Amino acid sequence: MKYDHILVRYGELTLKTKNRMMFVGKLKSRMERALNSTEAVVRANRDRAYIDLNGEDETQVINKIKHISGILSMSPVVKIEKSIDEMKEYAVKFANGFKKASTFKIEVKRADKNFPLKTHDIQQLLGTEVLTYEDHLIVDVRKPDYKLMVEVRFDAIYMYSDVVLGIGGLPLGTGGKALLMLSGGIDSPVAGFEIMKRGVEIEAIHFHSPPYTSEMSLDKVKKLIDIMSLKTGEHIKLHVIPFTDLQTTVHDHVPDNLSMTTTRRIMLTLAKRLATEIGAEAIVNGENLGQVASQTLTSMFAINEVTSMPVLRPLLTLEKNEIIKKAVEFETYETSILPYEDCCTIFKPKAPKTRPNLEKVKQFESKMDITEKLEIALKNHTIYTDEERNNEEFTGLL
Ligand code: ATP
Ligand code: MG
Repeated sequence: MKYDHILVRYGELTLKTKNRMMFVGKLKSRMERALNSTEAVVRANRDRAYIDLNGEDETQVINKIKHISGILSMSPVVKIEKSIDEMKEYAVKFANGFKKASTFKIEVKRADKNFPLKTHDIQQLLGTEVLTYEDHLIVDVRKPDYKLMVEVRFDAIYMYSDVVLGIGGLPLGTGGKALLMLSGGIDSPVAGFEIMKRGVEIEAIHFHSPPYTSEMSLDKVKKLIDIMSLKTGEHIKLHVIPFTDLQTTVHDHVPDNLSMTTTRRIMLTLAKRLATEIGAEAIVNGENLGQVASQTLTSMFAINEVTSMPVLRPLLTLEKNEIIKKAVEFETYETSILPYEDCCTIFKPKAPKTRPNLEKVKQFESKMDITEKLEIALKNHTIYTDEERNNEEFTGLL
């Protein structure tokens, strides 16, 4: 079948009556950005969008937009004139692509009530036409192998038989901005995707402790940002914070079993500072209740005490295998499992407290003065985006 348009159905936008056009506008510009290297043209209205393929391949166009949040589903469609003959001709063309001896159903939506044939008449007419030319097919209205959808709208008739699911959610940029704490592990990239699905833009922060953590481990985190950027059509910024000095200071002043708590408190303090600087209203991390010592409620309480900024934990209650499934889906899994060390694994205490006492932690912390070190870490931080890598690759070609 030669398709000429993609029909895009919106997700939860339907709920947002007041801000509807703002949501649609954001979604339209996301699609346009994802398709800017193609000839395809996006036309978005209140209820749905049509992408005029202009000769582009429908599968490639769908692949470029299917990870955009706010899209419920997509269908390659043919747009035809409001003529009964054309409808018949295309019904047979569609049926021609159905497997031998399979079952089908014709479903009609008639938005234009002035169209001369009624819904039931169109169904009958097209069903008969298909069976005349493709007599191996069988009609089954309950559980058909194929559905041929015919939408009679005011401007034209649209016909399709495939529905490709999108990721749903809300268009990016409609939910403000958050700062993602990105390690090289499996969880935090997934947490980032989940929060972006709710329309929240993100920048990321990573704590790097050279020479304890290698260039390779930093490169792994950059690669994760590249994947996340590619998938969402964003150029996500990664802020890399030099963390060695702070981490060794903690190591020297705080007993081993509480050092994890203090390290996390410092990370969160820095994250909050950066979040405020970049205009983010929340911090996101990949924590999961009960997964490790730093992720018990008591630990979270002690760590969270350094800030009143909301700390969002989209993976809090998921099972590990559910998180892994999502990481595979988002295509970050293969990179996340590369064996490079993270700053937290290098300095990992032998027996971290699962119920750290906040007062004790504060007592030890009061003996180390890190005010200046915090400023230095923030001042010396570097920024990376996937554009940089693309530029490097481009320069490499010259
Ligand atoms: P992940 O798979 O995301 O590393 P995890 O289950 O291994 O998570 P931890 O290593 O305890 O858990 O980290 C908990 C969260 O703290 C991470 O999900 C991440 O958000 C944040 N985090 C840990 N290490 C770093 C780091 N080096 N830089 C930035 N954030 C970090
Ligand atoms: Mg980790």
